[in-house]
Amino acid sequence: MNAPSAVRPHWVVRMNHRNRAGSWAMAFVVLATHAWEHGHGWLTWGLLGLQLLVYPHVVYWRARRASRQMEAEIQNLLLDNFCFGLWMAALGFPLWIAFMLFICGGMNMAAFRAGKGLLQGVGAALLGCALVWAVRGGVLFLPDTSLPVSLMSMAALAIYLVMFAKGAHTRTVVLHETRLKLRQSEAALQQQLQDIQALQAQLTDQANRDALTGLYNRHYLGDSMQREFDRCARDGEPLSILLIDLDHFKQINDAHGHAVGDEVLRQVAELLQQDTRSSDICCRYGGEEFLLVLPAMSLEAALARAEHCRVRVAERSRLAEGCQVAVTLSVGVASTVGAGLSPEALIALADQALYRAKAEGRNRVCLPQGEAPGAAADQGVGRPGPWASWARADR
Ligand code: GH3
Ligand code: MG
Ligand code: MG
Repeated sequence: MNAPSAVRPHWVVRMNHRNRAGSWAMAFVVLATHAWEHGHGWLTWGLLGLQLLVYPHVVYWRARRASRQMEAEIQNLLLDNFCFGLWMAALGFPLWIAFMLFICGGMNMAAFRAGKGLLQGVGAALLGCALVWAVRGGVLFLPDTSLPVSLMSMAALAIYLVMFAKGAHTRTVVLHETRLKLRQSEAALQQQLQDIQALQAQLTDQANRDALTGLYNRHYLGDSMQREFDRCARDGEPLSILLIDLDHFKQINDAHGHAVGDEVLRQVAELLQQDTRSSDICCRYGGEEFLLVLPAMSLEAALARAEHCRVRVAERSRLAEGCQVAVTLSVGVASTVGAGLSPEALIALADQALYRAKAEGRNRVCLPQGEAPGAAADQGVGRPGPWASWARADR
């Protein structure tokens, strides 16, 4: 049950040891003077020495070795009160001495266990008195104390009260500082939590983004495209996609180097991202392929959008790493309404359209074989481009 002696004593155990060792030495002077004045023999002197000079260290040793130090210390305090009861009764309740012992013992218990502690302390003291009465077979009552003993009792009591108040003040200060530190730690923890959450959001975003262009990657496309498909299917809205591939990109790499190729990819990505709505998903689909998911956009509007992208890229010769690079792109467009097609089927259709655009000479927008853009084409959405002439020829 006992803890190893290396365990650091509880701060209450240490504080009470200090208080006992100091104040009980004062009490020894008072009680020894009283005993001397009343001609007590060597037995009283010996017991007084044991009680007031040795006992504080014995109970400290006992408490610091206990596995539950606070519990042991409360037992010590109760034992203090019991011993005070013994001494009060044994000496015949000399008033100032009894008052001093009674107040100090009761205060100690009240400090740790409030009203209940006070009652326990008084109970322990009464038990001590009762024991003496029982052994002696009656109550001795000699209340008088000499003036020096009374004055010394007052002084000892006053010093003890001041020490007690000082201890309470120290504890209040420590408590205040601990609360302050706790609040600071809590604020630091909150800050750390926010930083972690921000970092988590950043990491999630990074995991969903292509490092070169900053566009969404295919990993992100998987979930988000299905989500948009479900939403459009639920609302009965159309959903269109553009599958975009840079023309002869390998030649750009070969002619100007990989770094220029990278810069071209970055600039095209930037152009594609312009004019996107918040619901659009602009994604780097492969090496030099991009996929635009356009929820709630009809086939006609998607064709116009594709043509707009094609023209913007074709009209601007890229300036990358000091080189003028002419870039064009081919676009395959596909569209579905409601729960018509799965994402995979729609991408396959767009791929088919892209293949067609490549086969028909590149730098154009195409639909899959057999699809017509409908009324919007008749109204001449966008400027006439390869897809428009194809659409007209188809009808
Ligand atoms: P096509 O018009 O038929 O699409 O011809 P293409 O040359 O664009 O197509 P191909 O598939 O033959 O070549 C694609 C090239 O894109 C080959 C590859 O080295 C290059 N590429 C893929 N990813 C990157 C990249 O991240 N950076 C650079 N600089 N080049 C890339
Ligand atoms: Mg390609
Ligand atoms: Mg290509």
